[in-house]
Amino acid sequence: MQILKELQPAKVFQYFEEICNIPHGSGNLDGISSYLEQFAKERGLFHVRDYANNIIIVKEATQGYEEVEPIILQGHMDMVTVKKVDCEIDLEKEPLKLKIDGDFIYAEGTSLGGDDGIAVAYILAIMDSDDIAHPRIEAVITTDEEIGMEGATAIDLSMLKAKRMMNIDSEEEGILLASCAGGARIDCNIPIVREEKAGIFYKIKVGGLLGGHSGVEINKERGNAIKMLGRVLYMISKEMPIQIADLSGGEKDNAIPREAEAVVLVENTQEKRFVEFVKKIEEILKNEYNTKEKELYLISVRLGNQNKRILKQESTKRVIDFLMVLPNGIMAMSIDIAGLVETSLNVGILKLEENEMIASSAIRSSIESAKKYIMEQMEVVSSLAGGSISVHGDYPGWQYDPDSKLRATMLQVYEEMFGIKPKVEAIHAGLECGIMISKIPGLDCVSFGPNIYDIHTTEERLSISSTERMWNYILEVLKRK
Ligand SMILES: [Zn+2]
Repeated sequence: MQILKELQPAKVFQYFEEICNIPHGSGNLDGISSYLEQFAKERGLFHVRDYANNIIIVKEATQGYEEVEPIILQGHMDMVTVKKVDCEIDLEKEPLKLKIDGDFIYAEGTSLGGDDGIAVAYILAIMDSDDIAHPRIEAVITTDEEIGMEGATAIDLSMLKAKRMMNIDSEEEGILLASCAGGARIDCNIPIVREEKAGIFYKIKVGGLLGGHSGVEINKERGNAIKMLGRVLYMISKEMPIQIADLSGGEKDNAIPREAEAVVLVENTQEKRFVEFVKKIEEILKNEYNTKEKELYLISVRLGNQNKRILKQESTKRVIDFLMVLPNGIMAMSIDIAGLVETSLNVGILKLEENEMIASSAIRSSIESAKKYIMEQMEVVSSLAGGSISVHGDYPGWQYDPDSKLRATMLQVYEEMFGIKPKVEAIHAGLECGIMISKIPGLDCVSFGPNIYDIHTTEERLSISSTERMWNYILEVLKRK
């Protein structure tokens, strides 16, 4: 039963439907990878399937295009699988239930995987054709993009000849992406020394903050609960002695933390002043974050007389000082692309263990050396506090190239075809382009794609008309010599 068979371009939707019939959530890609391998085999196309299930398929230039520079067409084969609570489809084993509603294709009860199934469908339709003019095409279809770009990280591209690449993994027609951020996760480990002490303890909690994605929402100047808590502790410690018993905040290094709390020992004689001072600080913060964080609150809760293993005074001071000077937020804005954050840092998780405090941050930058500079600052700040850092999940960014030839061609073709200039943008989040460029130095990339709405949700919808326009667009770009 073919749901999409009436739609144009027919081959693109035929392949899209075939892909939707093979479960292909991240981590479950044996089936789709075998399907792609089989596709290439049946057509006698050179192909490679690697241990990470990535697929490379090569189609030689058509007549008259032998001298034109080869090009990589790239997308990822995995999708984010989410379903509604009442949906009974087993996304590990069963096909999606495709539906058409006006200009949109969606999957009933689940995500659609237009991100990035449509790229795979475009690529297969081109590879299957005998009437499309094109240079040598090197199709690179990666795995597990959605769970950390693992396929792109593993893939060996040394057999490829192309020095330019169309990444078909953006979701807004009329926007050509020209840069993305690289990133890394950094843990700062600050040693602490504890002692056992009895006394009156209070919990202090910062909360009600908006939070958000550490990449795309870092430019909204939202409050970071961990940084705010550090500041609150510092302000209190200037007024009266306190000792920290516990600290925690945030959930993920790539999310701006919405809440953070501390448990502190307060001297008996200072209780009343402490409670009043916390209220005063809340007023100061509320005033400062006035329109940015309307629900911000800072509260203290009396936990009463307890006996706890708490941080010695020296450790308390060290931890508070560290939180005060730990860099956070926007580090640099781009001059090439208006409004783009070039380098940023988000302190996302705070934990206190028996012998150390751990603060985990996500760094992003489209410039590799700028990312390294922030890492080094973190290293120095940690070392000044007697600690050290460890780096995980380091992936490269994609620096804006003012002289991109591919982008110039794609801008020109777009304007000729649709009568308007597309926007050139960049994102302060990761794309596979950064990793591909690190493997093919000088690779000239553009990322684009048809309109897909609400990706990664059960409301995901792919625009049929936009899919057709972007199909014609790709063919026209391939045709240019
Ligand atoms: Zn994607």
